[in-house]
Amino acid sequence: MTRTILTFLLLFSLAFCANAQEAGKYVRPKSTPKSTPKSTPKSTPKSTPKSTPKSTPKSTPKSTPKSTPKSYQTCPDGNHPHMIDLGLPSGTKWACCNVGASKPEDDGGYYAWGETTTKSDYTWETYKYCDGTAKTCRNIGKSICGTQYDVAHVKWGGSWRMPSFDQIKELKVKCKSEWTTVNGVSGRRFTGPNGRSIFLPASGYRGGDRLNDRGEYGNYWSGTQYTSDASGAYLLYFDSDKADWYYYGRRDGRLVRPVAE
Ligand SMILES: [Zn+2]
Repeated sequence: MTRTILTFLLLFSLAFCANAQEAGKYVRPKSTPKSTPKSTPKSTPKSTPKSTPKSTPKSTPKSTPKSTPKSYQTCPDGNHPHMIDLGLPSGTKWACCNVGASKPEDDGGYYAWGETTTKSDYTWETYKYCDGTAKTCRNIGKSICGTQYDVAHVKWGGSWRMPSFDQIKELKVKCKSEWTTVNGVSGRRFTGPNGRSIFLPASGYRGGDRLNDRGEYGNYWSGTQYTSDASGAYLLYFDSDKADWYYYGRRDGRLVRPVAE
């Protein structure tokens, strides 16, 4: 009897242990399969402490002369206007042709002083900056160079502008000029200190509804108002004998040869 009990007990405990093991197996917290995809400890690319040696202070080859806008000795091609360097003391460069012209010997447009469009009748009545008479001329500036009244600046832009009275005087004083013809068109060639030149056609001027003196006189506005009378402005004037400067009423239609500095 006792033996039977012992045997039973033994079996029981064995069974119990087995159960316990089973149970244990179950209970055992799943050895978390470390699903965490190892948040790779970023191979710290250490934001490079920018010890980069100072980008060598670019030894800019300062030898390159300011080539904008480019100036030329003579027209390099047929795409006028060009900026011609005559070697003038002021550094002023002159255009190879007139405002409104497509080549050096063309007349281009005739403009009343300060106006930026051509018209068919040039009188005080049609002049934009007066009330019908010379006495009522409005002051649009002692110099209109580079302003909204400067036809060279308005039509060509960039650094182009009407020449000042000083620049016209410089052209006359520092250049030699001679009466000549280009493709059958009469005018004067102005040759600068460096031997380069520009040709200005003797295109006359427009007064009222007529074109006067064409082929005989050149009349080129400066952007400077005449000092003694606000109804006038200085201009470059020439014929077959000489070139000079003068002043005339702002109403007349005259040519404009732009400059750039
Ligand atoms: Zn040209």
